[in-house]
Amino acid sequence: MGKDRQRILVAGTGPVGLVAALALANAGVRVTLAGPAPSGDDRRTTALMTPALAMLDGLGLMDALRPRGAPLKTMRIVDATSRLVRSPTVTFRAAEIGEDHFGLNLPNRDLNAALEAAVSASAGIEWRRSLVEAWTIGDAAVGATLGDGSEVDAALAVAADGRLSKARAAAGIEVLARSYPQAALVLNFSHSRPHGFVSTELHTETGPFTQVPLPGDRSSLVWVLRPETADQLAALGDAELSQRVEERMQSMLGRVTVEPGRQIYPLSASMPSRFARNRVALVGEAAHVFPPIGAQGLNLGMRDVRDLVQIVRENQADPGSEAALAAYDRRRRPDVLARAGAVNLLNVSLLSDLLPAQLARQAGLGIVGGFAPLRAFFMREGLQPGSGLATMVSDLREQIRR
Ligand SMILES: Cc1cc2nc3c(=O)[nH]c(=O)nc-3n(C[C@H](O)[C@H](O)[C@H](O)COP(=O)(O)OP(=O)(O)OC[C@H]3O[C@@H](n4cnc5c(N)ncnc54)[C@H](O)[C@@H]3O)c2cc1C
Repeated sequence: MGKDRQRILVAGTGPVGLVAALALANAGVRVTLAGPAPSGDDRRTTALMTPALAMLDGLGLMDALRPRGAPLKTMRIVDATSRLVRSPTVTFRAAEIGEDHFGLNLPNRDLNAALEAAVSASAGIEWRRSLVEAWTIGDAAVGATLGDGSEVDAALAVAADGRLSKARAAAGIEVLARSYPQAALVLNFSHSRPHGFVSTELHTETGPFTQVPLPGDRSSLVWVLRPETADQLAALGDAELSQRVEERMQSMLGRVTVEPGRQIYPLSASMPSRFARNRVALVGEAAHVFPPIGAQGLNLGMRDVRDLVQIVRENQADPGSEAALAAYDRRRRPDVLARAGAVNLLNVSLLSDLLPAQLARQAGLGIVGGFAPLRAFFMREGLQPGSGLATMVSDLREQIRR
C-alpha cells in the first residue's frame, strides 16, 4: 500500500481475527492484533469451500492444512423427520458442476494452529496476547486499552471479537439476538464402511444431524438437539453413544466408534443493524451468528475479510473513514442477509410443526432436488455468491446465441 498507510487494530483471535490480521498484513498494512492464543481444545471441524481454501492458500497455509482435511465431493440433505409431509432427498455432486470437490473438512485445532504459527511468524503483525478491556471512539482514531495495561491507537478497529463483541457495542451498533431451544453435540467418530467423501445432513424435528468426512474411515458429527437431550447423550459411555449415533444414521456407515472428547455448543442467531460504524468494522461472528446448517459461518467470515481488505486497499488515506465504512457495509449486507436468512428459515421450518412450514420446505427442496440447472445454481452460489447467477446468465446467452 502507499505511504499513507495506517495502523489497523484487529481485536479477536478466533479463526476470522487471525485470517484478518494475516490478510491485512499481506496487503501491506501495519497490524496490531489483540487477543489470547487460540484454544487448542476446539473439537469441531469446519467445512471450508474452495474460495475460502484459495484465501488460505494465498496466505501460504494450504501445504500444512491439505493433508489434515478430507475433500467433500458429495453433499446430501435427507429428511429424517417422521412428519406426514417430508421432503425428497437432495444430492449435490461437485462433479455436476465440473469440480472435483466443494471444499475440505478441516479439524479446527489444525486450522487454528496453522493460523497461529503464520501470525507469529509475520513481521507485519504485532500480536499482543491480551483482551481489549476498554474502547475509546474518536473522530480521527479509535483507541483500545488492553488487559496488560498497554494502549493502541488505530485508524480502524476490526471487530473479530465474536458474538458478544465489545468493539461492536463501543461503536454503538445495535444487534438483534435470539437463542434457539437447540444445542449442537459435537464429536468425531470412526466407522467400518468408507464414507466415499459424502457428507450427509439428516434433518430431524430437533435440527440437523450432520456427518462430514475426515481423512480415513472417520467422520465428524454435529448433532443438533434439545439442550437437555444433548446433555444426556454427552453423559453416556462411549459404547452406548456409539450405538445411538449408529442408530440415528441407520448404520449408513456401518459400525460406529466415537472418539474421546465431546463438546456442546448452544445455538443462537444474531444480526447487527450495520456492519461498520464509528471506525469499527465487524467480521465473523461479531457480524453474523446463525445455526451450523450447510457449513456457512466461517466461509462467510472469510468473505467479510476478503471484502474488508479490498475496501482498505481502496481507502488507503483513511481506511476507517465514514466513506470506507459505508462501502464495507454496502458490500457485505446482501451476502450476509441472504446466508443468515436462508439458514435461519431452514432451521425454523425444521422446528415448526406447522403444515405450511413443512410444505414450503418440501416444495423448496423438491424443486432444487428435481431440477438440475437449479441444483447447479445453488451449488455455485454455495461456493461463491453471485457465481451461480453469472453462470446461469452465460448459459442462457450461449443458448440464445445458438
Ligand atoms: C458446531 C458448529 C459447527 C460449525 N461448523 C462450521 C462449518 O462446517 N463451516 C463453517 O463455515 N462454519 C462453521 N461453524 C461456524 C464457525 O465455527 C464460526 O463462524 C467461526 O468459529 C467464527 O469465528 P470468529 O473468529 O468470528 O469467532 P470466535 O471463534 O468466537 O472468536 C472470537 C475471538 O475473540 C476473542 N475475544 C473476545 N473478546 C475479546 C476482547 N475483548 N478482546 C480481544 N479478543 C476478544 C475470543 O477470545 C475469541 O478468540 C460452526 C459453528 C458451530 C457452533
